[in-house]
Amino acid sequence: MIYQRSSALFAEAKKYIPGGVNSPVRAFKAVGGDPIFVKKAKGAYLYDEDGNKLIDYIASWGPLILGHAHEPVINAVVEKAKNGTSFGMPTEIETELAKLAISMVPNMDKIRFVNSGTEACMSAVRLARGFTGREKIIKFAGCYHGHSDSFLIQAGSGAVTFGSPNSPGVTQGTAKDTLLAVYNDLSSVKELVKANKGELAAIIIEPVAGNMGCIIPTDEFIQGLREICTQEGILLIFDEVMTGFRLAKGGAQEVLGIKADIVTYGKVIGGGLPVGAFAARTEIMDYLAPDGPVYQAGTLSGNPLAMSAGLAMLTELNNNPGVFKSLADKTEFLHKGIAEVLKEKNVDHQINRYGSMISVHFTNEPVVDFTSSAKGNNETFKKYFHGMLNKGIYLPPSAFESYFLNDALSYEDLDATINALKEIEL
Ligand code: PMP
Repeated sequence: MIYQRSSALFAEAKKYIPGGVNSPVRAFKAVGGDPIFVKKAKGAYLYDEDGNKLIDYIASWGPLILGHAHEPVINAVVEKAKNGTSFGMPTEIETELAKLAISMVPNMDKIRFVNSGTEACMSAVRLARGFTGREKIIKFAGCYHGHSDSFLIQAGSGAVTFGSPNSPGVTQGTAKDTLLAVYNDLSSVKELVKANKGELAAIIIEPVAGNMGCIIPTDEFIQGLREICTQEGILLIFDEVMTGFRLAKGGAQEVLGIKADIVTYGKVIGGGLPVGAFAARTEIMDYLAPDGPVYQAGTLSGNPLAMSAGLAMLTELNNNPGVFKSLADKTEFLHKGIAEVLKEKNVDHQINRYGSMISVHFTNEPVVDFTSSAKGNNETFKKYFHGMLNKGIYLPPSAFESYFLNDALSYEDLDATINALKEIEL
């Protein structure tokens, strides 16, 4: 495939935008080459500026669970826009989306909308600190909770892809309040809790991780976290920015059978428009301004266009929960197909999958945490990524990212993807 115009647009963008992109992982730094510039998309396909058609496995990093330019979502946004795009005043649709979201998720009483996953996680931690009167938090190496200061400590995803899991610009003062544990290793958590007794406000985790590839928590680990938090008065924050409304109506809480104290959302809840949210039971949420002392705000929060996209998306998922099974089946089909081809090719690999999240790691050791994920062979990954791209398959351009399937993908698309893999040299 030819990507001439994309390269020219990238060269132009670099003159005016740092690195030519507005979010680092888009720049293809981990895999080399120039990024693809998108012209439009429909269903499971991207159409780029060179006229290529690509099968898309990132779906805008998760939000487009029903495919690109999904008609009910687009129609809702277009209709809403005709009546104005922002008021900075309350609108009925905010309550409609709040009501629906809460009805789909177990044990959450109230929800506040923000504009991104970063804002949701940042605000959730502030709320946890205000509610508990404690300052420290625990996060897990390789988990990404957005780019706010407290989380850029051994962050996964783009941060680790660019070799800066601890970003310059984060003060020592902030960093000292973020303690780091090892995913799937309960003893690492117990040690930190013991050494910081009475000082921990929250433990924040991606309940199924997607920012060091897809990593599945063991039952013992995730149940153990819940028990420790309950015993020690620590709030358990599930960052469901990726998993929320993707793994099931009730997200990871539902499929893992664990109730978190605060849950953060992004991606699917906004149907492809900028929306994040955080939710908790009433006694916690009432700590927020204007009723409580913990300040949190946003000019564009609850924006009518964003709310209308989210409402159209969640309404459809709520009315048709078969989507989650359909997506999981497709992901399993892809998993089996890729595994078979890689076995035939004699390439060391591990495939991790949970629902419609999946990642391929070029290593022969099980991938259960950040250290084992980082052992993947990046040279093989680069060949895999570019080989597939040349066959019109768009995968995440970093070995640390999970793929996100969308339900517009057909079994023919999945077959085409598996056949493409057969033809590339690794
Ligand atoms: N949490 C998780 C688990 C994420 O995957 C992401 C982004 N990929 C974020 C938070 C941050 O969301 P945003 O990029 O919308 O700020």
